[in-house]
Amino acid sequence: MVLAELGGSISRALARMSSATVVDENVLRECLNEIARALMQADVRFKMVCDLQANIKKSVNLEALAAGTNKRRVIETAVGKELCKMLDPGKPAFVPKKGKPNVVMFVGLQGSGKTTTCTKYAHYHQRKGFKPSLVCADTFRAGAFDQLKQNATKAKIPFYGSYMESDPVKIAVEGLEKFRQEKSDLIIIDTSGRHMQEAALFEEMRQVAEATKPDLVIFVMDGSIGQAAFDQAQAFKQSASVGAVIITKMDGHAKGGGALSAVAATKSPVIFIGTGEHIDEFDVFNVEPFVGRLLG
Ligand code: GDP
Repeated sequence: MVLAELGGSISRALARMSSATVVDENVLRECLNEIARALMQADVRFKMVCDLQANIKKSVNLEALAAGTNKRRVIETAVGKELCKMLDPGKPAFVPKKGKPNVVMFVGLQGSGKTTTCTKYAHYHQRKGFKPSLVCADTFRAGAFDQLKQNATKAKIPFYGSYMESDPVKIAVEGLEKFRQEKSDLIIIDTSGRHMQEAALFEEMRQVAEATKPDLVIFVMDGSIGQAAFDQAQAFKQSASVGAVIITKMDGHAKGGGALSAVAATKSPVIFIGTGEHIDEFDVFNVEPFVGRLLG
């Protein structure tokens, strides 16, 4: 089920309710069950779905509503509010400020879209008047530096990396120094991806973070990974102080549930979504319009 289907299912559940002659507890229960099924099919974790259902039941007291109140509207508002709450961890992400050397480190699994997203993030800020730069601290994957170099060159963003050096911490620190001197106000560090089972990935990430003291660590997650999203996001949160999430590949088979899980696991907001391979296919993520679209 892709994101649009999730939205379709939720709005169908709400619409069916409005066609009922009387909206009573049974109709509400049926509607919430249908929404729960749709969320689970979209890979939202069972526990989160149960919490959402319980919270809506608690906040909607059908009997206490005045006669003539549009019950469907009340329920729809409650559903929307709960979905927003799931996507809003309550604390905003760090926002880079012009004129000071903001350091942002990217982490994520190999193939998540991390390197592509680094360039998109740099390009987005460049258009806002920042002077971004990219550091390739991925010494693990052959070709990582070439890829970053190619992307950066295309986007006209200064970059730093090495074909010879194998210590990512050294490269990160050197890149940071170089770009601080060059007065870059947004230094973006791309770290190595690898796989979830590799303890070395998390250790390396910790070391790069310790040496560079980033203002923000962004966790990049493939939106189509499904139920694995929560555990993956949590593993990263435990090893690095993740402060924001970017969900990629939302143009593909993303089910939407991954976004909810990543927020819950990292207690950090989604700040952007990737919607394609091109550098401009990158959107600021705002909770309310996203939920508004889900509700149709
Ligand atoms: P990394 O291993 O995490 O650095 O991943 P890459 O940046 O190399 O991306 C892996 C693949 O995903 C590449 O083919 C990218 O073009 C593609 N990709 C990244 N972001 C998106 C996105 O938002 N949408 C789509 N469709 N593809 C993406």
